[in-house]
Amino acid sequence: MIICKEPAELRIALANARDRNRVALVPTMGCLHAGHLSLVEKAKRLADIVVVSIYINPIQFSQHEDLSSYPRTLAHDIALCEDAGVDMLFTPENLYAAHGANITLSVHRMAQSLCGKSRPGHFNGVAMVVNILFNIIRPDIAIFGEKDFQQLTILRQMVSDLHMPVEVLGSETIRECDGLAMSSRNHYLDKEARKHASHIYRTLTMIYDAMNKGEYRCEKLIEVGSSYLNRYSGIQLEYLEIRHEYTLQNTDQLDKQISRAFIAAIVGGTRLIDNMILEVPA
Ligand code: AMP
Repeated sequence: MIICKEPAELRIALANARDRNRVALVPTMGCLHAGHLSLVEKAKRLADIVVVSIYINPIQFSQHEDLSSYPRTLAHDIALCEDAGVDMLFTPENLYAAHGANITLSVHRMAQSLCGKSRPGHFNGVAMVVNILFNIIRPDIAIFGEKDFQQLTILRQMVSDLHMPVEVLGSETIRECDGLAMSSRNHYLDKEARKHASHIYRTLTMIYDAMNKGEYRCEKLIEVGSSYLNRYSGIQLEYLEIRHEYTLQNTDQLDKQISRAFIAAIVGGTRLIDNMILEVPA
């Protein structure tokens, strides 16, 4: 595996390897776990050269968020990438102009709901860093997790709106045994919070089960989920919403289109998110 810190170094390594090979990029912020590695596996199936980037993108964090405490486990991450057969690992120290950015990107409607509400500017920061990575690496495909479904949708929209020559692909959420979506932020959870955290997935499965029993009204499904979650004082619900799978617009009835339930909750001071597709059985 080739490890590069500088964009120029990576460009040369890629130019040597590229020839007619397909390049896949898996962008991450490190503290890698089985969820990240599932993206790498998918990338390996679909491309000849797999590049993983590890960069804790400062501009997607707001001031009160956890940029300084975000888990950093680079030596472990390098070993995991090596074992997983990653071809190139890009670990830049800084991707932004020293004099501050003159040019930025703004995500509009799709960033105004769900996580965008409590994290203003977050998706602008994500769009910016993914653009920079795409420009340095010029991947044919880029793989993102469905765990961050709003991010995946926004990035799909970005490459479409900006005619970017890269295909954005989603990959399913990898979970712990009790259903909790794997996340680098799970490291923050103490024993008690970790127990509470599994109710997030349970809430989504309660909604899913209610749908399978024939309840298609979104308002009722949200009631099912929130009344379950309200029983647990260790979890503070930020939002529980059902939205259209592709547009993220509000939806009131499941049988009109494919929808998805989205949840964000604070558990023991840590903000966790998850989602589940709701497709009415044929
Ligand atoms: P992060 O390092 O948290 O920024 O995540 C990097 C990529 O891994 C993003 O595309 C995430 O959506 C994806 N990811 C994170 N957790 C999981 C998971 N449990 N299952 C699948 N993909 C994930």
